[in-house]
Amino acid sequence: MTSPHLDRLAPRIFGIETEYGILAVGPHGTPTTDADTAGRALFAGVLNRTQSTSVFLENGGRLYLDVGSHPEYATAECQDLSDILAQDRAGAEILRDMATEASARLSADLGTPTQVHLFKNNLDSAGNSCGCHENYLLYRSGKFRDLVESLVAFLVTRQVVTGSGALLKIKGETKFCLSGRAFQIDDTVSAATTSTRPLVNTRDEPHADAKLYRRLHVIVGDSNVLETPTRFKIATMNLLLGALEAGLDFTDLTLTSPIAALQGISQDSPHEGTPLELADGSRRTALEIQRVFWERLSRAFEAADLSADYREVLREWGECLEALGSGDLERLVGVLDWPTKRLLLEGLRSRQGLEWGDSKLARLDLAYHDLVAGLKLEERGLARRLSAPAAVTTAKTTPPANTRALLRGDLIGKAREQRVDLQADWTHLRLPESGLGTVTLSDPFATKSEEVAKLMGTMETV
Ligand code: ATP
Ligand code: MG
Ligand code: MG
Repeated sequence: MTSPHLDRLAPRIFGIETEYGILAVGPHGTPTTDADTAGRALFAGVLNRTQSTSVFLENGGRLYLDVGSHPEYATAECQDLSDILAQDRAGAEILRDMATEASARLSADLGTPTQVHLFKNNLDSAGNSCGCHENYLLYRSGKFRDLVESLVAFLVTRQVVTGSGALLKIKGETKFCLSGRAFQIDDTVSAATTSTRPLVNTRDEPHADAKLYRRLHVIVGDSNVLETPTRFKIATMNLLLGALEAGLDFTDLTLTSPIAALQGISQDSPHEGTPLELADGSRRTALEIQRVFWERLSRAFEAADLSADYREVLREWGECLEALGSGDLERLVGVLDWPTKRLLLEGLRSRQGLEWGDSKLARLDLAYHDLVAGLKLEERGLARRLSAPAAVTTAKTTPPANTRALLRGDLIGKAREQRVDLQADWTHLRLPESGLGTVTLSDPFATKSEEVAKLMGTMETV
């Protein structure tokens, strides 16, 4: 093994994609129209302005409606934890504003009061799955497959901290599970997108110079409502990827049956978790495996030049694992999603003497994820906020300053102001009327480009 001590965390680009469930209902909660119509109403303003339902925004992110599917927001490329939190939440706020407009539009069109709800959740009301994908830039090396294999035990067990909690019917019985997404995953690593749903999708689409980079596409995560698990997901993966790229070895933690473990862990209480079989013949619970990852990464980065928020994540990770180990869920309310949701569900269940399968509990489970009406968790002291409100407001229209999203976002902002047609995607920018060619942004770290400056310049004249 290479030295277990690192002196820094290598810079990395990351982004989060979130698909939202959608529902349009009247005052008594009965649907007034279908999800397709609601989705079209949600995007009517965007369509009107851009003639498209797939657009890049002036904050560098992407807003998208799949035909007949869920609205999706993908954050701009970020390098800092504070940026990803702000950009992710900015997306939720942009969509919430769109839902307010869509409610007014549908109420008028349908002639009946209608409210459009959006759910940051992994299952919509019709049982279709919505994903929350994490993207991490990797340096291309021959060891990609080994690296991804080393992530499996981590991704399978991290749900004890990052799971959002879900009431699910399993073998005829409704249960509270740590992660709903766990049951939508049926493979560890695969390039397929339709035949199987893996933890990590290896489709090679780097959105960057393919000679230098790969993009790791993690699709096993739950959509989180609270900010602590969102930050936790990104920060711990960055630490782990940094450690793996520096040669640290975690292969002793390889699980013999990762998918069975994923689904088993989701049904256990972490402090009394079932021991899982490892390839070396030993047995450890999910919590014990997480503790080993935490210990090794804490040690590896002990003397490293880490920013204060990464230090805070490492400290909190240890504290959360300790609280989970002692079964002290009260301490985690407002910090982690599943203990917070579990407390709310338990409260209603015991007050009203309900069975887990009761529809009132299912409605509360769904309301936990509702962006529009919601449970007002922050106002009730049930959600710790990490992002600064002003930073989120800024992030609705401003890209992160230290990735190529800055170039894209600024150009989009300017084009919008000047009412000039602009074509953009993650790696390309083109102003059809300028007579200049397509600009390719293959370096996701680049924040300066003469070619983009030229496009900016022509904007005044076209
Ligand atoms: P799909 O929606 O079908 O999964 P996709 O994974 O290509 O397609 P998008 O929805 O367009 O994705 O989102 C891409 C995400 O990847 C964004 O959050 C973006 O910030 C991030 N991203 C873009 N380029 C890179 C890169 N080079 N490395 C890591 N992340 C990147
Ligand atoms: Mg996507
Ligand atoms: Mg994706």
